[in-house]
Amino acid sequence: MLIVQKYGGTSVGSVERIKAVAQRIAQTASDRSVVVVVSAMGKTTDGLVKLANEISSNPCRREMDMLLSTGEQVTIALMSMALQELGVPAISLTGAQVGIVTEAKHSHARILHIKTERIEEHLQLGEVVVVAGFQGISHSRHQEITTLGRGGSDTSAVALAAALQAEKCEIYTDVPGILTTDPRIVPEAQLMSEITCDEMLELASLGAKVLHPRAVEIARNYGMPLVVLSSWSDEPGTRVVSAIPKRRALQDLELTKPVDAIEYDTNQAAISMLHLPDSPGVAAKLFSGIAVQNIDVDLIIQSIHESNTNDIAFTVGKDTLKQAAAVADAILPALGKNSDPSLGEPEVKTEERPIAKVSLVGAGMIGRPRVAAKMFETLAEAGVNIVMISTSEVKVSCVVDAEDCEKAVNCLCQAFDVDVADISISSAASESEELPPPVRAVALDIKQARLAVRHIPDRPGMAAKIFGLLAQQNISIDMIIQSQRCHHVDGVLTRDIAFTVSQAEAETAYQTLANAALEFGWGEVVLESGIAKVSVVGSGMIAHPGVAAQMFEALSASQINILMIATSEIKISCVVEEEDGVKALQAIHKAFGLSGNEVIKVPA
Ligand code: ADP
Ligand code: ASP
Ligand code: MG
Repeated sequence: MLIVQKYGGTSVGSVERIKAVAQRIAQTASDRSVVVVVSAMGKTTDGLVKLANEISSNPCRREMDMLLSTGEQVTIALMSMALQELGVPAISLTGAQVGIVTEAKHSHARILHIKTERIEEHLQLGEVVVVAGFQGISHSRHQEITTLGRGGSDTSAVALAAALQAEKCEIYTDVPGILTTDPRIVPEAQLMSEITCDEMLELASLGAKVLHPRAVEIARNYGMPLVVLSSWSDEPGTRVVSAIPKRRALQDLELTKPVDAIEYDTNQAAISMLHLPDSPGVAAKLFSGIAVQNIDVDLIIQSIHESNTNDIAFTVGKDTLKQAAAVADAILPALGKNSDPSLGEPEVKTEERPIAKVSLVGAGMIGRPRVAAKMFETLAEAGVNIVMISTSEVKVSCVVDAEDCEKAVNCLCQAFDVDVADISISSAASESEELPPPVRAVALDIKQARLAVRHIPDRPGMAAKIFGLLAQQNISIDMIIQSQRCHHVDGVLTRDIAFTVSQAEAETAYQTLANAALEFGWGEVVLESGIAKVSVVGSGMIAHPGVAAQMFEALSASQINILMIATSEIKISCVVEEEDGVKALQAIHKAFGLSGNEVIKVPA
């Protein structure tokens, strides 16, 4: 029986901690084979980054990998010595010595395959094998040292567990497991005994750094049992559970097909509300009105526009369209008027044409920007216009005209090489026996920026153009919002597109789009950095009316203005001003009753 255990930075932050962890490993090793993956000690990696930045503001990525990979090398040697001191035979190995073969991309290489021979040899000899996390070696001729991206030791551990066909992978960290939110911001956060891979994938990509999203992706794809637990206690921690996956080869481990199915739903209708005043409480009023009627809302998008008025668009089941539109109409007077009458009167528009939602289902979509770009390109080539877009780590959906649905599904099946048999009507997907909670956890990401491109011609291919250009630079995007409002520019119907990117990539994204805007004659490109994104995640929110309303009400009660809203099947995200981020997270966590009576203490 083989088990892979990973110990993060804080868990091995001092010699005392390394000795304590060695005791733990010795215990496990008494009746099992153990492979241990470790991170650099404490904040070593941050320290190395700082050193590099003292020499260069833009250091060469190859040298950066050379530098950062040293952190883990210190820990493996010390851990191996600590085990040997306890009389446990142990050997340390770097990523290169194991043969953790990656793409030849510095600073965020994906794992291609892992050679298991050397590790197996040592295990046969009864040794504990201590492997350096976060690092690999490129498949190219020069066998360069690569790193997997910050937080990547989790990914090393789960990939090793998959390659070695371990019984399970345990991730030991400084908190008791996966909590309802980051205990450093909300100390009353509660431990969950279980979470699904899909929920954890969303959370991880929305800012919960307790697990590297790519680690969860590998666990899901290979059905590897994954547990997150504290290296300070003997509590059982949190299990990350997944459905039994299809068999996958261990070659191209992290390059596997990210899309496993196409879904469509023709039971959708859309409503837009335009020119709403930009003040706290507008979304709350609207969606609580709708929740009172027990109407299930699917997608919601809201974006602010020039002149500071808001548009909100949302979809509901066809049979509830009239009822939902009546609520929207009735609520309009209560939303107030725009202070400046020239900004236009608030109005409700119901979409006359029937619409359909077509989705890619899989894992790791935000992390692979090419996927969404390819979806948009495929639809554009087929002449399908996209009405609304919703993105997430496990699903990318486009709302299209119902008459284009079949064409869209067919061309997407072909482009992503998924079987037509995989197509399901998404509304049927929610009939599980045991209902998961509507909101499992909440997350905050304060390292986000907002970009908007104004006045883009409203015709097929525009989303493909924008997100294709960004994907070429490997820039991940989230919360894509196409305005429902149209402008006529020189006789051409145009719309705005807004989205969020990480602050680290915002400047590159801005430059790319500003150049494209000049070339294609789009309007202005606007970058705003001071934003925060708060999100709620839970697979039980499917077919559970009122979750969005509850989130918006919590923000409204705290007088927090919502700048953008975007939802996907199991998540709702709101962009707020950066200084409101922490307050927003705390308010939402409380509103969903996620707080416990005990306070979580995180070791320093
Ligand atoms: P390690 O060094 O062990 O890899 P990390 O710092 O990467 O640890 O991840 C653990 C940290 O993740 C916790 O200390 C906590 O502050 C943060 N965190 C954020 N969201 C959550 C969450 N939902 N549950 C648990 N921890 C979280
Ligand atoms: N040491 C690396 C980092 O700090 C990898 C890890 O700890 O997972 O990002
Ligand atoms: Mg980590």
